[in-house]
Amino acid sequence: MSMPNKSYLTTKSFDRLPEELAVTNAHLIDKVEKLDAVKTVIIKNGQIDGIHDQLPDGYKGEQLNGDGCVLMPGWFDMHVHLREPGREDEETLQTGSFAAANGGFTGVACMPNTQPAIDSQEVINYILERTENNLVDVHPVAAITCGRQGEQLAPIAEMAEAGAVAISDDGSPLMNAELMRRALEYSKMFELPILGHEEDANLSKNRHMHEGFYSTKLGIAGIPAISEEVFIARDIMLTAYTGGRFHVCHISTKDGVDLVRQAKAKGLPVTCEVTPHHFTLTDKVVESYDTNTKMSPPLRSDEDRQALLEGLKDGTIDVIATDHAPHSIEEKEAEYIYAPFGITGLETAVGLIISQLVEQDVLGVQDLYNKCVANPRKILKLAIPKIARGETANLTLFNPGVTWKFKDIRSFSKSQNTPFKEFPLKGKPVAVINKGQIFISPDLKK
Ligand SMILES: [Zn+2]
Repeated sequence: MSMPNKSYLTTKSFDRLPEELAVTNAHLIDKVEKLDAVKTVIIKNGQIDGIHDQLPDGYKGEQLNGDGCVLMPGWFDMHVHLREPGREDEETLQTGSFAAANGGFTGVACMPNTQPAIDSQEVINYILERTENNLVDVHPVAAITCGRQGEQLAPIAEMAEAGAVAISDDGSPLMNAELMRRALEYSKMFELPILGHEEDANLSKNRHMHEGFYSTKLGIAGIPAISEEVFIARDIMLTAYTGGRFHVCHISTKDGVDLVRQAKAKGLPVTCEVTPHHFTLTDKVVESYDTNTKMSPPLRSDEDRQALLEGLKDGTIDVIATDHAPHSIEEKEAEYIYAPFGITGLETAVGLIISQLVEQDVLGVQDLYNKCVANPRKILKLAIPKIARGETANLTLFNPGVTWKFKDIRSFSKSQNTPFKEFPLKGKPVAVINKGQIFISPDLKK
């Protein structure tokens, strides 16, 4: 197809949608609209104009070939670090948005561990203004405490009013239970979820990988699973006590999943997410001493990984989120124990989800509607886009049959700290559409 320009090459702006675009013969999946069939969708002036069994006779607009592809409402990643303001050398709102689009996402929620932290109305406004005309919807998450220092509550009411979708001190745990209690009370008042980074820093301090067989073998101080679990237990209890809403970020342990399962069985408003790296890799890969295997929480044992797959299957785990955490090469080239925690994730998510979950029969491709489209937006109280006539076209198109490697594609993130460069992936984003704009993955454009 011929698209209006090649602005993706400069990453200055997204392409405008042509006046009329047909996405032909794609497998449409939208649980709310009860769509699960191969159809052709026509988009006119940014809105869905019709859904057809095939391209209508006499159609004269542009076409995007959806043969063999899946078309869903736009995917949403509720856990990314975009580093702006403060570390624009690692990522910016703009490059992070392009990485999101290239990874198949039309919306993200960005975490507050920026410099300055997202702890005031000014920083919320800054992010919203800078991303206003972006294809990718960028929703800021407000810090719980000023400067994420864990000492004094940030102006949560003010930030909720400015457009924060959740509150979190992610990147660090909130050690003070009395402050977590207050935050949960705000959560109730403003109907904002708390996104909890669950880690007892006293149990994890100066530790660098999962505590277990491999930490002993490698002689690296290990972070015990219990450091995550005691905080999940604490925060579930505080949630029950306050009536707030709690979401566990990047859950990684077997007993952690069990705690969430029990909380749900009691009817508590507790949800959780898992990252693609935690359901794909285990602490064994740390044997490579590759600092791109270092993240918080750390890669756990295979028993933990199996429990994450089980949690995804039985619905205990609501959401798949990447925890996209760009770091500069200089920082990551340090010795293992000195390297920062975190890896990039936006551009490898679809490939890992299809190859590790769908291909392995953990989830059906239809289940990705809940984990990647609907649940993250439900948790953040955002409208869920629909594939229906008259709706704004907010869509993700991916090809579940394509095999590829990250090292062979053009990446839009400013940082490349991923352990998946050589990892065989199946399933590749093709295009995303939102707000009258389109992004076509350059690798598939040829
Ligand atoms: Zn975190």
